[in-house]
Amino acid sequence: MTTTTTRRSRASDINWMRDGACLDRADLPWIADAEQTTTWDRLAMSTLCQGCPVLTDCAGYATRQKVTAGFWAGQHHDADAPNLTGPGWAIDPLPGLGGLGGLGGAA
Ligand code: SF4
Repeated sequence: MTTTTTRRSRASDINWMRDGACLDRADLPWIADAEQTTTWDRLAMSTLCQGCPVLTDCAGYATRQKVTAGFWAGQHHDADAPNLTGPGWAIDPLPGLGGLGGLGGAA
């Protein structure tokens, strides 16, 4: 007999997802592989995450669950995802989208 010890998510662990800002932006590629997204996609998702009321919950969940794909809490969790925190991102390339000064520092 085989016994599994993998912990499943309880409903109380994911209740915060109902308040995610991403729910209103299903047009963005939240679950796409990083190479299938554009710079604009990633910047738009990052901006939404910065203002999301459950950003901290999302970041904690992604860390605890060791997610390895998709865009969570302001960053892509694909190991091959482009780095948005380099010196080229020191300016706000999309004025009017709420500012991007916090890019890369959310999680
Ligand atoms: S932090 Fe970003 S990915 Fe996480 S729930 Fe909020 S909008 Fe969605």
